[in-house]
Order: sequence, then structure tokens, then C-alpha cells
Amino acid sequence: WTEGTLEEAENSLRELAALAETAGSEVLDGIVQRRLKPDPATFLGSGKAKELRDIVAATGADTVIVDSELAPSQRRGLEDVVKVKVIDRTGLILDIFAQHAKSKEGKAQVELAQLEYLLPRLRGWGESLSRQAGGRAAAGEGIGSRGPGETKIELDRRRIRTRMAKLRREIAAMKPARETKRLNRRRNSVPSVAIAGYTNAGKSSLLNRLTDAGVLVENALFATLDPTVRRAQTPDGIGYTLSDTVGFVRSLPTQLVEAFRSTLEEVADADLILHVVDASHPDPEGQIRAVRQVFTDIDAQNIPEIIVLNKVDAADPFVVERIRQRERNVVVVSARTGEGLEALRERISQSIPRPETVLDLLVP
Ligand code: GDP
Repeated sequence: WTEGTLEEAENSLRELAALAETAGSEVLDGIVQRRLKPDPATFLGSGKAKELRDIVAATGADTVIVDSELAPSQRRGLEDVVKVKVIDRTGLILDIFAQHAKSKEGKAQVELAQLEYLLPRLRGWGESLSRQAGGRAAAGEGIGSRGPGETKIELDRRRIRTRMAKLRREIAAMKPARETKRLNRRRNSVPSVAIAGYTNAGKSSLLNRLTDAGVLVENALFATLDPTVRRAQTPDGIGYTLSDTVGFVRSLPTQLVEAFRSTLEEVADADLILHVVDASHPDPEGQIRAVRQVFTDIDAQNIPEIIVLNKVDAADPFVVERIRQRERNVVVVSARTGEGLEALRERISQSIPRPETVLDLLVP
């Protein structure tokens, strides 16, 4: 269901599919419905919901992801029709943030957002229980209308609020530590390059192109890296780390903004940012501005940046030329065809700090 044009809905669905893949899902199919308003009971209208049920059965899907925020009752209503788990856009994004959160603060911020998301959904469940109980007793509201789950839900809710208050205190206490860390920031012993940009811009395709996924190099310097960080080499043999960061999404729900920023904070520790832009997107310049604004928010605005203008194979050449002229450090590539990747490797090589001092230390 969409408020916008069909084209906007399809773009948004493409982004949702990319998000789902980031979260580790395989996307099997998609449908769009045009309606004035979502159905209050099942979100999709009943005919469309049945069509979706048939698609689920035919493809063997185990989850339906809805490109919107669902009311708790709509999620239940739709689950009853399609018979598999239904999650909404916010739930999916939270899942991805949880996978990406690394720092203590990032983890705390994401948990806080998850609990905030959960809280009203607990209430929804309680309401339905009490309504059922009321129906059975035919007593309407008041005595007899309270479901057996009511006290448990009250308890859960109280527990969640207590946990949220604790997380907020912890997060507030972490802020000064972060400032100190930033001030004392040392240069990384191995140069680190962060890939950032919108979801679907081609970040992971680029990560795969720039790293030798098949080659495992035993090297103590890289032994303790986590899975979103990989090692790569410049054409002249300088090793660096390359990390994929959590993707920007359009219309990020406001309750997720803080969690998003804290998950992205590793960017502020990088020596170089590859800012990947989808040149075939309808508004690449708007995306560049939005990404830069967040770089400023997380104090990463002074880190050297290469604009990697990706998907040149699918882009309007005029748009590519316009961006190339307006921005200072642009490399035009296609992660799909391989065009421009050599130039990008060269540019990375020129832009990362040379670890001469480290080599001096290592060579006996
Ligand atoms: P991420 O969400 O930023 O990690 O983006 P992905 O690497 O998952 O790519 C998103 C989609 O764009 C995938 O369907 C890719 O196949 C496609 N894609 C990536 N790079 C290119 C490119 O250079 N040209 C074209 N035409 N498609 C690309």
C-alpha cells in the first residue's frame, strides 16, 4: 500500500528488498497494492491479502515483510490470513541495526529502540486478550473483561520501562567517554576505510569487488576482525581494512534516528570514507547531502572522502557529469561491470595514510 506514485512505491520496495537481503533473507517476490487507506484489520484489503497468501504458499516463503509501519492489530490480522510471520519496515531495520551495533553505546541505543518498539505492541496483545475474554463472558467492559494475560503484561511493561530507564542512564554516562576517545584518537596502525551510503547504493557489491573474498590470508594484524570488516590491498601492496557500515534508509522512523547514528559511529574512526552513491537513483544529490549531514552529526565531516558514483552502467550520463563537476573527489564506477574499479583502487591508494611508521616498527 502506498500514498505516493507507483514508481515511488516500487523504488521503496526495492530498498526494502535490499534491506531484507542485508538482514540475511532471500527475497522471493513482491506485491504492491493501491488503496486510499490501509485496511484497519489486515493492512492489505482482503482480496489482496488472499493473493499474498497464495504467493506465500507457492514460493514457500516463511516471512512477509511489509513496507510500512503496521499497527499491532494489523500485523496479527495479516498473519492470520497469510499463516506466516509478518514483520514491518521498522522491525526489519531494527534487526539490521542490532547486527551492526558494535560499540557499547551502539548496542545500548539499539536495545533502547527495540524496547520502545516493543512496548506498544505488548499493549496491543493485551487488548486483544481482554476483548476475547469480554466477548466470552458477554459482559462488555469492566468485570469479566480482563484477560488472564493482563497482570503479566503489566509486569512485562514495568520491567521494560525499568530496563529502558537504565539504558538511558548508561547512554548518558557514555557520552563523556566518547568525547575523550575522539580527542585522543590515534591513527589506526592498519589504515581503515569505511564504506558508507544509502541502502541499495551498491556497498556490499563494492566490498566484494575490492576484497579477495576467496583468499584467506593469515595475518596477525587482521586476525581479530569482525565479519563486516574485511582486508584489502592497494595495487602496490599496502594492506588496509575495509568495513561495510549500516546503510542509510529513506524515511527513517524518528524513533530509530539515535540508534542509527550510534551504529554508524565507526565511520568516525576511519582514515578514509568511500561514500557510495547510486548514480541511477532519481535524486543522487539529495542523498549525498543527507549522508553528509549525518557525517557532520557524528563528527566525521573532516575525514577524507571519496565519492564513489556507482551504477554508471544504468545512470543518465548528464547526471554523472553534473556530479563529477560539482564534487571534488569523485570516481565513477560500476560494481556490476567492473568499470572504473582500477581507478578507484588507485585513488584509495593515494588517499590512505601510509603506514611507514608501523613498517619501521615491524621490520626487525
Ligand atoms: P547495498 O545495500 O548498498 O549493500 O547494495 P548492494 O551491493 O546489495 O546492491 C544493491 C542492488 O544494486 C543489487 O541488486 C545489485 O545487484 C545492484 N547493483 C550494485 N552495483 C551495481 C552497478 O554498478 N550497476 C547496476 N546496474 N546495479 C548494481
